Amino acid sequence: MITVENLTKSFPNGGGTLRALDGVSMEVPAGAVCGVVGPSGAGKSTLARCVALLEKPDSGAIRVDGTDLLSLDGKALRAARRQIGVVPQGDSLLRQRTAAGNVALPLEAAGVSTPQRRARVAELLDLVGLTDKSSVYPDQLSGGQRQRIAIARALAAEPSVLLADEPTSALDPTTTDSVLTVLDRARSELGVTVLVVTHDMAVVRRIADDVAVLEQGRVVEHGKVLDLVADPASRIGTTLLPETD
Ligand code: ADP
Ligand code: MG
Repeated sequence: MITVENLTKSFPNGGGTLRALDGVSMEVPAGAVCGVVGPSGAGKSTLARCVALLEKPDSGAIRVDGTDLLSLDGKALRAARRQIGVVPQGDSLLRQRTAAGNVALPLEAAGVSTPQRRARVAELLDLVGLTDKSSVYPDQLSGGQRQRIAIARALAAEPSVLLADEPTSALDPTTTDSVLTVLDRARSELGVTVLVVTHDMAVVRRIADDVAVLEQGRVVEHGKVLDLVADPASRIGTTLLPETD
């Protein structure tokens, strides 16, 4: 279980400051898929980067099984970071490396032996359904295939949490589906807790158990997707979701 408590983060903005996160609290049950949804600029990526320990919040706590990750440093912090696999927003693959080479990157960094690395990369390419693209370069992959490789790379070091920032933005519905299927498999086959950031409510409905709606750095709704979809007062059922499927 990941618990985010009263997280704040400000950035300098002109002469003043901009509150990207303004007291965000939420819970992600272990083994669940949790969506973070909201309009552009709401603070979704900042929240994701804080949870991934890539950005330091000004105040608040991020607890995993009771331990506040923000209190860690040195070796313990590096170990905590390894528990979180990140699919960054946008195109994040290295152009000069093949699909397999990209997936192998975190394993090389961790000093995994070549035979073990090859076996692990093969497993991951199979998980994301791209075994046949192993020696292909990112330029020859479609947008959805590149995202699936980025997910495989994020899963390489066997994290317990997978964090994907807008993994389906700019993808057509069919391609979106192939990427969401991979996130779903990460949860069901690897038992990974998945946090998926998106501005697309259809993505939340398709794979998320839980959802937090962010607006201007605040959580305005948080709960089970099924409960919120059924609640006429929820903006998930009204504003952001289409009337019918
Ligand atoms: P979202 O992912 O929901 O679109 P972000 O978390 O990227 O939103 O950004 C939230 C707000 O914080 C925006 O107003 C953005 O301009 C600002 N912001 C994000 N990162 C930085 C940064 N590194 N420096 C300054 N402002 C930032
Ligand atoms: Mg963003």
